[in-house]
Amino acid sequence: MTSSSFETVDCVVIGAGVVGLAVARALALAGREVIVVEAAEGIGTETSSRNSEVIHAGIYYPKGSLMAETCVAGRRLLYAYCKEHGVPHQNCGKLIVATNDIEGAKLAEIKGRAEANGVEGMRLLSAAEAIAMEPNLQCTAALLSPSTGIIDSHSYMLALQGDAEACGTMYAFHSPVQAARVANAGIDLEVGGAEPMKLRCRLVVNSAGLHAPTLAKKIVGLPSDRVPQAYYAKGNYFTLTGRSPFSRLIYPVPVPGGLGVHITVDMGGQAKFGPDVEWIDGIDYTVDPHRADKFYAAVRRYWPGLKDGALQPGYAGIRPKTVPQGAPAQDFVVQGPADHGVPGLINLFGIESPGLTASLALAEQVRDIALL
Ligand SMILES: Cc1cc2nc3c(=O)[nH]c(=O)nc-3n(C[C@H](O)[C@H](O)[C@H](O)COP(=O)(O)OP(=O)(O)OC[C@H]3O[C@@H](n4cnc5c(N)ncnc54)[C@H](O)[C@@H]3O)c2cc1C
Repeated sequence: MTSSSFETVDCVVIGAGVVGLAVARALALAGREVIVVEAAEGIGTETSSRNSEVIHAGIYYPKGSLMAETCVAGRRLLYAYCKEHGVPHQNCGKLIVATNDIEGAKLAEIKGRAEANGVEGMRLLSAAEAIAMEPNLQCTAALLSPSTGIIDSHSYMLALQGDAEACGTMYAFHSPVQAARVANAGIDLEVGGAEPMKLRCRLVVNSAGLHAPTLAKKIVGLPSDRVPQAYYAKGNYFTLTGRSPFSRLIYPVPVPGGLGVHITVDMGGQAKFGPDVEWIDGIDYTVDPHRADKFYAAVRRYWPGLKDGALQPGYAGIRPKTVPQGAPAQDFVVQGPADHGVPGLINLFGIESPGLTASLALAEQVRDIALL
């Protein structure tokens, strides 16, 4: 890379998923000049459009973790944002259901953890109380989370994009970042695609989702021991033919690596089951129809009314993991100059669930590091 051909810019956000868009908005609102470079043809084509679209309460994450803090803060910010911007959403609530005494004992533990995280209104229910709320349910006990909801994530992303655009943010689609180097006055980026660019950036935010570690490894001058290995845990969904039997979201007690096969509804009224957890070596969104067998078994534990043949393969999303299968659960990683020693670079790693819910709070954290 020769320095002469580089155009100097203030901030570049790499990736126009929900987190990159929220970060671009926060930086733009703080008065920074922002360009978002995105490899795909538009916003939110990867993990941000392959998730459950649930506004999580902040229940499961260890107290003090970044996931817990940004989920609870992000959820409050997100409900307010949706109301203010007319983003379709519904605060429908969720039930975590136990189907035996061992799971029942875990509900109290989950409630304690949620309350330690600042989640409001959690309430243990007897089987009779839960079934009075959701007559199609079978359970031995349940935990009500009234602050959980659902959101039209694409409308949300469009609103974020519009906010940032109104503050002057520019978007370059079909623009994959191909090379990067730490330079004297910032970070140099080489962007490929239809209109290649060479940018000398005061600030770069690597918000490339599943590709963030691969991209970070390409940054010449960033210590490689600061970049985690990328692991992938696919979540497959099956959709239900016919109406949802529940008005709230129904979750089992969590399983290692994910939240268990739950039933959610999107803003269009489509009920879906999933995601399960399938560790994979590379990015592959195919849903194997044979996985339905396990879904029937998992779902019938709390909804015995599920009929044979009612589940259709839906879609899959991939969790960007920074730890391998079997390792203790990961936290979000927001890595700034204090962590890796490179001025003007912020990396976001492992932004899996609840990244959609946490997006506005994560964006504030990035903005605060950027303004230091
Ligand atoms: C199965 C599943 C279910 C989930 N359910 C929920 C949920 O219900 N609620 C919730 O809060 N969260 C949920 N999440 C988490 C949430 O979806 C993610 O945290 C969020 O979408 C991550 O957004 P992102 O912007 O970090 O990544 P992405 O949406 O993946 O965006 C990254 C972008 O970077 C671009 N990019 C990559 N490399 C380059 C490059 N070299 N140059 C330029 N651009 C590049 C990609 O094209 C992509 O558009 C779920 C996640 C999964 C996998």
